[in-house]
Amino acid sequence: MSKVLIIGAGGVGGVVAHKAAMEKQHFSDVMLASRTLSKVETIAAEVEQMHGRKLRTAQVDADDVPQLTKLLKEYKPQVVINVALPYQDLHIMDACLEAGVDYLDTANYEPLDVAKFEYSWQWAYQDRFKKAGRMALLGSGFDPGVTNVFCAYVQKHLLDEVHYVDIVDCNAGSHGKAFATNFNPEINIREVTQIVRHWEDGRWIESPAILDDASIHFKFDYPQAGAKDSYLLFHEEMESLVKNIRGLERIRFWMTFSQNYITHLKVLQNVGMTRIDPVDFNGQKIVPIQFLKALLPDPGSLGHNYTGKTVIGCVFEGAKSGGEFFRKYIYNVCDHAECYKEVEAQAVSYTTGVPAMIGAMMMLKGVWKGKGVFNVEELDPDLFMDELNKCGLPWQCVDFDGFLPE
Ligand code: NDP
Repeated sequence: MSKVLIIGAGGVGGVVAHKAAMEKQHFSDVMLASRTLSKVETIAAEVEQMHGRKLRTAQVDADDVPQLTKLLKEYKPQVVINVALPYQDLHIMDACLEAGVDYLDTANYEPLDVAKFEYSWQWAYQDRFKKAGRMALLGSGFDPGVTNVFCAYVQKHLLDEVHYVDIVDCNAGSHGKAFATNFNPEINIREVTQIVRHWEDGRWIESPAILDDASIHFKFDYPQAGAKDSYLLFHEEMESLVKNIRGLERIRFWMTFSQNYITHLKVLQNVGMTRIDPVDFNGQKIVPIQFLKALLPDPGSLGHNYTGKTVIGCVFEGAKSGGEFFRKYIYNVCDHAECYKEVEAQAVSYTTGVPAMIGAMMMLKGVWKGKGVFNVEELDPDLFMDELNKCGLPWQCVDFDGFLPE
């Protein structure tokens, strides 16, 4: 029996539920639980209709540790796949320790009242997970997740020293809405309005946020999608990769944003709609970004009529032991419409949900095992890379002779 509990019934949770149902030999018993039961039931009905499998369902507030612990003790899963929001990470880790269950997520913890995401809070659980003999796998989505696995693969097979990594993330899709975010709007907007950081020569270097006129961007020529403006952005996987990839001299993260997205976000920020602190409105307190989330399209609903592709990967520069230099580019291309046909989701949810499912599969099979808290690049990449090819996210590895800024 391989039992998993998926927490979160949003865009990503839906994909994990579909894909786990499709991989019956690895996931023999699946429960989907979230805060709003109707969303869980809608996904479960879709899964049954499309893949002929019944999921167990439950309502749970993952911030209520005793309530979640009770559910875990009753259902007794081997692994919890946390695809709720980063605010829940620590509570779900607490419940997993209490109930003796392994843990996996796709995004690092973020406090509700400070727009700041970093691994320190979750790495602080190292001793508790070790002592309990349990495993916590952090960041098993696409980025973080697959990008970290690409780094581990290059370090294992292609380069003895990885000097430079540039993660390049492109969504060249069109959802037909005036403005929408491809994953949870609150988390997305908090992420992209931050001061940018990249790592070079042993230290973090700050540069202006993407909405600033002085932001750093250039056109990267993406396979199948063509040249797209790509903005320097801080992204969480860099924090663990600088610790775990040998000889790293520089790591940067670039993401495409359309002018339309930037213009909308600038206006929203200028009028105060992206604020995360409570403001008084008609005698009650509201948090503007939470109100904005309620107005924006649900990322899980964008899949219908979404066209175009995502192209996400990493460019590596480094040396073999003989001193020979290489530039390699490993990437995946994913088609929004194809994802919708398969699991009724757009490609951003798909590229996150599939690696979450594969990470859990690695843990259930005992391919990835250990006691403590792990980032995915600390584990052997080979079988994960094979499963990407089998489960809908095939990758290419090519020599890179394109342009990157110095
Ligand atoms: P959604 O907002 O669509 O879904 C989040 C789900 O979590 C909702 O169903 C929500 O319930 C549920 N939830 C929120 N709070 C609780 C709670 N206290 N208890 C139980 N359930 C709760 O987000 P996405 O699906 O777009 O994203 C999910 C996660 O994936 C996020 O953490 C995001 O940062 C991460 N992500 C990671 C990426 C990667 O590549 N690594 C890329 C994209 C996303 P309700 O419906 O009641 O609000």
